[in-house]
Amino acid sequence: MYLIILIYAISIGSFLNVCIYRIPRGISIVFPRSFCPTCQHPLKWYDLVPALSFLCLRGHCRNCKAPIPMQYPLVEIGTAILGLLLYIKLGLSIEFFKESLFCSLLMIIAWIDYYHHQILNRLSILGIVIGLIVAIPYGRDEFFHALLGMATGGCVLLPVAYFYPQGMGMGDVKFLAMIGSFLGVKGVLLTLFLGSALGTVIGLFLIGCKVISRKTKIPFGPFLAAGAVFVLLFIM
Ligand SMILES: [Zn+2]
Repeated sequence: MYLIILIYAISIGSFLNVCIYRIPRGISIVFPRSFCPTCQHPLKWYDLVPALSFLCLRGHCRNCKAPIPMQYPLVEIGTAILGLLLYIKLGLSIEFFKESLFCSLLMIIAWIDYYHHQILNRLSILGIVIGLIVAIPYGRDEFFHALLGMATGGCVLLPVAYFYPQGMGMGDVKFLAMIGSFLGVKGVLLTLFLGSALGTVIGLFLIGCKVISRKTKIPFGPFLAAGAVFVLLFIM
């Protein structure tokens, strides 16, 4: 069973990599076949085996020898670990698929924010809608809980984004509303707390090591996503 979950999760991770690269560039996520981002050379079917192909090619494109970004194996391995942890926590249940979907959205949004410093509206709003819809079968209370979580997530950062737009964007506001629709009021507040703490610690560390300067903009999305995953796995 663990092996099936592992293979399932790693294939999802491989699809998430496609989404992370293509969605912000406006390329269809179904067509064309996967290609090397540097030379556009279409990948052979045996190059699509996640993580293994990265090892076999030692991180370089077969055609142009350009290095393959570390994002590819990181996302695949990260998704595999997350999938296994969710399975251990929830078993093979409806919740497992619901939370896998949530984690997939978090992963895509966080990586796109990391690369492009932007949280795409279509993704966070899609996430809000999904978060509300998946709460419906659990009854009126649960739906209300999701709605309240969404409102809390949307409102709590709104003043910051309004008065300090250079530090916090409306994208973060909508992203936190999405997290609230999945995790509820308590979950979204904990996510914000953990995400801010993690962002501060890592930001100060990077400034201390002179990797970035005090003026460098750090996207907040990846820290919120990490906070949400932590809350989902270990607190909720
Ligand atoms: Zn290439």
